[in-house]
Amino acid sequence: MKKYIIRFDDICPTMNWDNWEDLEKELIKLNIKPIIGVIPDNKDKKLMIGSIDEKKFWERIRHFDQLGWTIALHGLHHTYETQDSGLLKLNNRSEFAGLPYDIQSNKIRKALDIFTRNQINIKIWMAPAHSFDENTILALRENNINIITDGFYSRPVIHLGITWIPQQLWNFKRHLFPGIWTICFHHNNLSTKDIYKIIENLNNYKKRIISVDDLLKNHTIQRINFLDICFNFLWRKKIHINSNLHKYIGLKK
Ligand SMILES: [Zn+2]
Repeated sequence: MKKYIIRFDDICPTMNWDNWEDLEKELIKLNIKPIIGVIPDNKDKKLMIGSIDEKKFWERIRHFDQLGWTIALHGLHHTYETQDSGLLKLNNRSEFAGLPYDIQSNKIRKALDIFTRNQINIKIWMAPAHSFDENTILALRENNINIITDGFYSRPVIHLGITWIPQQLWNFKRHLFPGIWTICFHHNNLSTKDIYKIIENLNNYKKRIISVDDLLKNHTIQRINFLDICFNFLWRKKIHINSNLHKYIGLKK
């Protein structure tokens, strides 16, 4: 069985709404329920592109919540305070990894307060820059968040006392092993052509796309095993080689 979960990062009031509107329309039309990573109090200047009234923004997030989309906590400010690549070792920057437990826990509480004030119940974590460490996981569990969207596994696993719904891809791929594959999209800096390519693929792959709720209803999630660890090792190598290759031949990632 091969299934996809779709995830969109960097959802905030000042995001690129021109790109988002077309995606949103298509997701609703196709009844696809993605994970959206919402930044509760964005201070990242790179994500200050468009604008929408805060009140309207949260109304919209509540609407997505009611549609069965998965609203993920995507940091607090989305600004980077350390150069720690955390457990995933993907990017050397983090809003969380490398900071003491108390600071991380405080940030998570502040972020959750904003969601609570806006009547959104958060169950899942999406780390800015995919960077988080064991203290982040402790702080998440303390705050009743027990799921992470990240990790290079071929199936969801329980690891370090938390459920990992793996995220391995940044685009659709035709030739894949059976498994649960999450594709991460950053719509803010894409061209109109890229947005239409995503829309085309959503249509092509819609029968294989599931939501987090579908996954949790229909799967028993097991503890991490030796095969998961091997898969994680090999997939990480593959990402590393691809990224070096792109740098070497000067292609855009
Ligand atoms: Zn982000």
